[in-house]
Amino acid sequence: MARRSVRRGAAWFLLILTALTAAAWYLHGRAQVAQTAAELPEKAPRLITLRHTADGTAEQLPLEEALVGFLAGEMAAEAPEAALQAQTVAARSYVYARNLSAGEVCDDSAHCLAYLSEEARRERWGRHFAEYEEKMRAAVDATADLMLLADGEVQAAYFHAVCGGMTENAADCWGGGVQTAAVPCFWDGGAAGNISACFWPKAELAAKLGVTEEELALLTVRARSVSGRVQRLSCGTKSWRGSDFRSLLGLRSTDFNWLATAEGYWFTVQGYGHGVGMCQAGAIGLAERGSDFREILAYYYPELTLGSPE
Ligand SMILES: [Zn+2]
Ligand SMILES: [Zn+2]
Repeated sequence: MARRSVRRGAAWFLLILTALTAAAWYLHGRAQVAQTAAELPEKAPRLITLRHTADGTAEQLPLEEALVGFLAGEMAAEAPEAALQAQTVAARSYVYARNLSAGEVCDDSAHCLAYLSEEARRERWGRHFAEYEEKMRAAVDATADLMLLADGEVQAAYFHAVCGGMTENAADCWGGGVQTAAVPCFWDGGAAGNISACFWPKAELAAKLGVTEEELALLTVRARSVSGRVQRLSCGTKSWRGSDFRSLLGLRSTDFNWLATAEGYWFTVQGYGHGVGMCQAGAIGLAERGSDFREILAYYYPELTLGSPE
């Protein structure tokens, strides 16, 4: 009887000892977790330098904050959420990479990206300001810190308004860069809806190109890219890159043809923009058909992956 109670006492002692040890370990672990959390500094926001072209001033601000302005500048607030999210990731990648390589980003859409300050957003959206501001911020938050990478490096992801049926190979457009290959785009409203035309009277066109009116008949396309965009053209001894010719005549894209009449030249143009990377109208079309932002980005940037830089 006595031996039994001694044994029972020992068992109780062991049980209590085990429980105490476990409790001590648990509390120790908790203390460590608490300490680590307290020691971890809050992740510093990524900062960028934004140059305002209107007055030449520059300001430093958090990338995520600036993105609301870039997103508002680049896509209509009425666009579906998934398209706004895809646009945010592309803009974030562009702004981050550009800021890294050039030390700053500007608000000139012809040079970097279109940007709307809060004041400009209030003006554009009027009574919808609160609603649209929330929608834009939600797109930025839903894709927080996500960018387009190649071999772990953030890429300056390009995008444009409307490709008009097929996007452009970056190498064909600018001669350099390998990040985006041409893909067919069926979702941007149809090529027919995106055709624009531009009429140049003979005398004005000849003067603009620096040739005589007679020489205009020699105007010839020398090379087109895989997507059909004009890469090079010549007129007698003069020659141009498609992109230079486009800006010289103010055409919407390099996907053009012309019709010569007795009075002048009709240039018919498909799409709007350089055509490289994501087609914004196509992204909206895909979002309307149920694609999420990851699917949209994977389609227009097949070589790039989603992630965050170190
Ligand atoms: Zn710029
Ligand atoms: Zn398109």
